[in-house]
Amino acid sequence: EFVILNGNIINRSEASIDIEDRGYQFGDGVYEVIRVYNGKMFTAQEHLERILLSAKKIGMEITFTVEEMKTLLAELIQKNNVQLGTIYMQFSRGVSPRNHPFPVPAVPQSFVAYTKEIVRPLANLENGVKAILKDDIRWLLCDIKSLNLLGNIMAKQEAVAAGCYEAIQHRGDIVTEGSSSNISIIKDGKMHTHPADNLILNGITRRKIIEVCEKGSIPYVEAAFTLADLENADEVFLSSTTSEITPIVEIDGKQVGNGMPGPVTKKIQVLFDKEIETECGS
Ligand code: PMP
Repeated sequence: EFVILNGNIINRSEASIDIEDRGYQFGDGVYEVIRVYNGKMFTAQEHLERILLSAKKIGMEITFTVEEMKTLLAELIQKNNVQLGTIYMQFSRGVSPRNHPFPVPAVPQSFVAYTKEIVRPLANLENGVKAILKDDIRWLLCDIKSLNLLGNIMAKQEAVAAGCYEAIQHRGDIVTEGSSSNISIIKDGKMHTHPADNLILNGITRRKIIEVCEKGSIPYVEAAFTLADLENADEVFLSSTTSEITPIVEIDGKQVGNGMPGPVTKKIQVLFDKEIETECGS
């Protein structure tokens, strides 16, 4: 199995990271997860542009271009012969004696990427999943896909401990996003999703959903919605690169709508599948 380390494709067994890597010590870096369907990356352009933007927002200038990263990742997929799976990639601010300020002069960033084979979550896509509500205790720069995920993993663990798939986070009355997904609701045929500001990660799947809503003439609005809106929603779903568009059928033990994945969610799923087919083939 091959991995990318600092721009080189090497054997995983030969890859190692220094104990003073700032990603390891401070979570000082950014990451992406890209889906692979049919041996091809889905929405790679968007993910790679986002990692450049995330890096910029933490004062890190990634030296690779989108095209360079694409070429390298495509080579990794081919070498590992991945048909259906994901690529995980991250850049940290590099290796330097532990000290909070950024290293001066800057040191080379650590760039790691590897592939994983995963199947599509067909049962969840069809039947839906359960979620809990959780106070969003994270910082105020959730638009950055940073390596600091403590708030997210603690929320997810609470969901898992409750026998649920996801934690729907809220700041006061406003629903923000899941621990590793965006949240959308359907009310009277209209899709509502939190605006892409600093309180959520602007999901690539979320953006695709907006695109297919336009194509499929599904009304939508990018506007914050409340816990009451969530409770009164006809349909609720989460979206992410790995979970795709997963219906949420129960929240804190209460049924959503009639407790089954709804028609608008299903329509969005079908349109989303078409996007995958167009970009990656079937
Ligand atoms: N929000 C958070 C906090 C996430 O971790 C993710 C998954 N990366 C998302 C939203 C969904 O983003 P995407 O559709 O780009 O995977």
